[in-house]
Amino acid sequence: MKAVAVFPEEHALRLVEHREPTILAPGDVVVRVLDVGFCGIDREIASFRTGSSPADSSYLILGHEALGEVVEVGSAVRRIRPGELVVPTVRRPCRHETCRACRMGRPDFCLSGEYTQRGIKGAHGFLAERFSDDARWLQPVPRELRDVGVLTQPLALAETAIAELEQVQKRLPWAALGETGGSGKRAVVLGAGPVALLGAMALIVRGYKVAIYSRGGRGEKAEFAESLGAQFVRAEEEKLDSLVHRTGRIDVMLEATGATPEALAAMEHLGRNGVYLMTGIPGRRGAFTLDAGHLLHGMVQRNQVIIGPAHPSAEAYRAAIQDLALFSRRWPGALARLISSRMTIDEAPAVFRKPAAGLKQVVSVAD
Ligand SMILES: [Zn+2]
Ligand SMILES: [Zn+2]
Repeated sequence: MKAVAVFPEEHALRLVEHREPTILAPGDVVVRVLDVGFCGIDREIASFRTGSSPADSSYLILGHEALGEVVEVGSAVRRIRPGELVVPTVRRPCRHETCRACRMGRPDFCLSGEYTQRGIKGAHGFLAERFSDDARWLQPVPRELRDVGVLTQPLALAETAIAELEQVQKRLPWAALGETGGSGKRAVVLGAGPVALLGAMALIVRGYKVAIYSRGGRGEKAEFAESLGAQFVRAEEEKLDSLVHRTGRIDVMLEATGATPEALAAMEHLGRNGVYLMTGIPGRRGAFTLDAGHLLHGMVQRNQVIIGPAHPSAEAYRAAIQDLALFSRRWPGALARLISSRMTIDEAPAVFRKPAAGLKQVVSVAD
């Protein structure tokens, strides 16, 4: 079958003919791939800056944001049936007996750091005609989400951050009075890419008043934000302190810029008891300097929390699938607009080498 693979040693990226996946254990499932989205991490792997092949392979099949249809299940699989749509999670457990997290099926909290990530680190991804996996790493998706289910993984990043935010907000004295969720609270989303816009939707449905603060993005992104009921503020036109002055205290900041220095410096404008949520990993694109003394002084004085959940749990994928259904009802047609272009698997290698265009680019592997 066809797959798109990167050869880290050779510095090459091309279509390969990969062996057909099969059921090897009673818990396995074979999935026919429908859609695969790609993001900044894929581009970094495609330019050989990160990513590693499985130990027994000279190449790594790309793709970690996938939607597929189950074609075959092992004898022990009960939860998932052929014909169902599924989204695979990305991280798989390490082999250490002493890693409590992985032994409990929670590689999102892996203690050894030797987990693998499909399509990223030590395990093949999903940008192929089919893949196989243990059923426990697959989340069922309702048929009505066929066209937008590929957005589950990027939304799961924001869902993880929001779930941790809700944990932290329980510390506030008024949480015991039943005042939870976002009602009456203000959130600023930093960035206007797919994770930012999906995160903004997830905050809005929880009752937050949301402003999306981003460089550029005039036109389509601003119009999209406004159609959600969010404010769109261009960083070139208004400084954050003026935004705070105009709208009031910011309770939550959701960073979805890939952790740029500007986005991290923005935490200076977070309000008292506020929470700063990171979805990016600082320094991925090179080192930078921030006045940590100044920023952390403010964080401590204002009783703030920074959360940087690295990886979504299965729970976060389930929350994302539920939210996609909710977003589809609340904003008909909006999710489909986040998918800026679709291409075939044959066209994918060339597109990976080009700079990103629009919002989410998706490879339509099959109908
Ligand atoms: Zn991604
Ligand atoms: Zn582990």
